Amino acid sequence: MNNFDLPDLEFDQKHIWHPYTSAINPLPCYQVESAEGVLLKLNDGEELVDGMSSWWATIHGYNHPDLNQAAREQLGKMSHVMFGGITHKPAIDLCRTLIDITPEGLERVFLADSGSVSVEVAMKMALQYWACQGAPEKFRFISPRNGYHGDTFAAMSVCDPVNGMHSIFNQTLTTQIFAPAPQTRFDQTWNEDDIGPLEDLILTHKNEVAALIIEPIVQGAGGMRIYHPEYLHRCRQLCDEHNILLICDEIATGFGRTGKLFACEHAGISPDIMCVGKALTGGYMTLAATLCTEDVALGVCAGEPGVFMHGPTYMGNPLACAVANASLALLAQNKWQSQVASIEEQLQHQLLPLKDHVAVEDVRVLGAIGVIECKKAVNVAELQRVFVDNGVWIRPFGKLIYIMPPFIINQQQLSQLTAAIAISLQTLN
Ligand SMILES: *Cc1c(COP(=O)(O)O)cnc(C)c1O
Repeated sequence: MNNFDLPDLEFDQKHIWHPYTSAINPLPCYQVESAEGVLLKLNDGEELVDGMSSWWATIHGYNHPDLNQAAREQLGKMSHVMFGGITHKPAIDLCRTLIDITPEGLERVFLADSGSVSVEVAMKMALQYWACQGAPEKFRFISPRNGYHGDTFAAMSVCDPVNGMHSIFNQTLTTQIFAPAPQTRFDQTWNEDDIGPLEDLILTHKNEVAALIIEPIVQGAGGMRIYHPEYLHRCRQLCDEHNILLICDEIATGFGRTGKLFACEHAGISPDIMCVGKALTGGYMTLAATLCTEDVALGVCAGEPGVFMHGPTYMGNPLACAVANASLALLAQNKWQSQVASIEEQLQHQLLPLKDHVAVEDVRVLGAIGVIECKKAVNVAELQRVFVDNGVWIRPFGKLIYIMPPFIINQQQLSQLTAAIAISLQTLN
């Protein structure tokens, strides 16, 4: 094939995979030239208000002077050095801060290179922990439906079995145990029946379960569902009572997005193992971390092989750590709290009324997250065109039109996003 002379977008369509798209009939792509603050600048000069934070990540906005400077300074020292037998200040500073700001009891940090890898690491820790305790029969995981934990195999095995399309991979995927998704909404009165099915499954399977894995409070890519903190609180209790580790996947929810620095705080709990990623570097580059308690860390290394068996080539990448440190320093100024609170208020004001629209099934808001669940799956390409024509960047999936803008978005820009959503609903029937 000789397609090297094709125009860029045509070359892209013919040769480049994009997330979750068809190679035969790919969705259209928009070419971004640069980005600044809350704006994505297309190569035709058009500017779009970003409603996605590049998938939960870009909390401080694009092209941030502090993050740029941190990257530049670190670049002048070293971009990367192996982490085996070597350590460095950017990683040490980052791990100090992570232990300091995450829920009580998490004291050991494994730096991973993406969210999915941090979930693999969390699951391996749980398996190795029980194997070292002489309980290798505890090798399965339990999780609520509608979860999303990443695209690698172990992570995929605990994603919702239906929208994670387990049937395609069922020869290779470990079969895990799924409880119904939590039903009581964040702001409803807690319904005691909600925990029953999970409790029953735990009682039946506790001797074979290594860990319960859950996204605290907000289930992200598996359905954008926002559930009652008591559910998470009860997960913690059940795990304690029945000798099961609790893994909280804070990859989407971490670093202020839900109105708390970590969503676990809504329920006042600490997990045994926690994953963070996405906004960790303020959306600059890929970096994630798996934190665990001292008990888990010591338990993992108590028996054979005596070490934790994982070590990515780019582990603790100094450039990524330096940018993460700058991003966490911005968060430490605590502006995010008022920013997220005012985004939440405006989203409630402007999105909740859309619930009455004929095409809309449900509207949900928490922190800097706004979700419109439509009655039917939307045509992504068509809706995307409507959004771009209205000067915003919003990427729906399935029945969901949702936004989680950078925390620095101003009122007028946020109104532009919510107005574009209202307009897009008029094109649905
Ligand atoms: C995005 C996400 C992941 C996977 O992270 P990647 O960096 O895309 O591998 C895992 N869990 C949750 C909750 C996520 O939102």
